Amino acid sequence: MMKQNQETESTKSKNFIEQIIEEDLASGKHESIYTRFPPEPNGYLHIGHAKAICLSFGIKADYNGKTNLRFDDTNPIKEEEEYIDSIKRDVSWLGFEWDKLCYASDYFDQLYDWAMMLIKDGKAYIDEQPGEEISKQRTTPREPGIESPFRNRPVKESLKLFEGMKKGEYDEGSMVLRAKIDMNSPNMHMRDPIMYRILKRPHLRTGDKWNIYPNYDYAHGQSDFIEGITHSLCTLEFEVHRPLYNWFLDQIAKPEEPRPRQIEFARLNLTYTVMSKRKLLELVQGGLVNGWDDPRMPTISGLRRRGFTPASIRLFSERVGLAKRENTIDVGLLEWAVREDLNKTAERRMAVLDPLKVVITNYPEGKIEEIEGTNNPEDESAGKRMIPFGRELYIERSDFMEDAPRKFFRLAPGREVRLRYGYFITCNDVIKDDEGNVTELHCSYDPESRGGNSPDGRKVKGTIHWVAKETAEKAEIRIYDRLFSVEDPTDVPEGGDFKDNLNPESLSKTIALIEPSLKDTTAGDHFQFERTGYFCVDKDSTDEMIVFNRTVPLRDSWAKKNK
Ligand code: ATP
Ligand code: MG
Repeated sequence: MMKQNQETESTKSKNFIEQIIEEDLASGKHESIYTRFPPEPNGYLHIGHAKAICLSFGIKADYNGKTNLRFDDTNPIKEEEEYIDSIKRDVSWLGFEWDKLCYASDYFDQLYDWAMMLIKDGKAYIDEQPGEEISKQRTTPREPGIESPFRNRPVKESLKLFEGMKKGEYDEGSMVLRAKIDMNSPNMHMRDPIMYRILKRPHLRTGDKWNIYPNYDYAHGQSDFIEGITHSLCTLEFEVHRPLYNWFLDQIAKPEEPRPRQIEFARLNLTYTVMSKRKLLELVQGGLVNGWDDPRMPTISGLRRRGFTPASIRLFSERVGLAKRENTIDVGLLEWAVREDLNKTAERRMAVLDPLKVVITNYPEGKIEEIEGTNNPEDESAGKRMIPFGRELYIERSDFMEDAPRKFFRLAPGREVRLRYGYFITCNDVIKDDEGNVTELHCSYDPESRGGNSPDGRKVKGTIHWVAKETAEKAEIRIYDRLFSVEDPTDVPEGGDFKDNLNPESLSKTIALIEPSLKDTTAGDHFQFERTGYFCVDKDSTDEMIVFNRTVPLRDSWAKKNK
């Protein structure tokens, strides 16, 4: 009884793909599980791909299976080595290891042989009509299609022409190889789909060997089959292609040979984000962002540069879960995930983003003392560091208010505040320039409150961060807002363009003053700047100027929490 309940419990928490896999293992249909991730190398991977990667590679980990990384490189026009390299880097960075690195082009010979076999079996033919004519004859799903005049041409003719196509005897666009399936099928993909086209282009991997290239739909299912993939996981738009993949396998696989089972899931959509390689490429090529790894991009390389961690993306992906219907996830969930991770792992530092000078009039001139700060309250092993303190400091301009309401627990004339790890200070004088702007505050400190501890039990509600003027370093801070200003950037009026929805204020820069321990950092290092957010050292940093990207702001400032 107990056991049964437990089983029900555990099945409940499984998603529909895990349930299928467990059934297939339990029934003995498969002894082990083999998945793959099949990107086309025509752009950089984005967070949607990360979701698909976490899914397929996650199954490998959960069921002690295998996963291939396979490049679906059937279109030499759009594919580039740079993309292949970036995809490998991104999958590894996410923390996954592929079992085999494969390319659809590895199978071009086999695919060609199978195509010859289909022609010989009367199941494929060469069509010499122009592409538009072929599309037109497919009509609409509700009407019957129109058969090509070449559909019933002799097998011999098609064989000869196909061989000629391969040898480069015909011009691009002059003919194609089509599968002979069903011109009346309600599924348009079954209306004699194109298998091969002439493209006299060199291929990244096969060079000049081929003058013809298989269409994705002809290559994809067979690639899974050749690699012995058991579960081929892909997004919903491929559901309507599944009958076609099965049809090809029906023609070429022996009945006893194991076939991949394709299972579809809903693609990930995020608010304020576009997620199509084509659109992302448009942003890159139009110079609207600074490359594929611009920290505002939803690409894995952009997120990495922004300061997202592999663990945060895996956590996000897990929380998104699996759906069978299209939906849109709040981009806030991604930001939540990175805070979750960085809160545990990022060391704390102090940096003042919008500095206002403070002079502690009763502090000895020229004296610098070192006071101790905790690197990460969530992780004792991160240890402590020394922070220089002096007579002149900077605090955040927003931490001072001249006419402060009663509930403003920071600095105001006559009020006392705690400097993080430092002392209690009280604001005595406000110095202004000719235009009435506050330029500096004169404060006094309580020498008995060292370390931020109250000497006599008196309460100080506010705690603010600071840096000592004498030892402060400058840093460039890049603050990012959403790249698009509307939730669904692709929702545009007739004749509009998704680029019209770009947020003109998605990037702002400022010079901050940072504590000196931040000087020794390398690109990719993560920090929490106390009270202002999580930041990551950018690759643009130089010896003269460190550059930080703000990954995300802090949701709650610890000043509030520590109230
Ligand atoms: P895009 O439509 O963004 O250009 P794509 O689907 O053309 O992407 P592929 O390289 O063909 O990109 O995708 C590789 C794999 O990633 C496919 O199996 C696809 O189903 C999956 N994938 C692509 N986009 C998403 C997404 N937004 N969410 C989940 N999986 C995705
Ligand atoms: Mg695609």
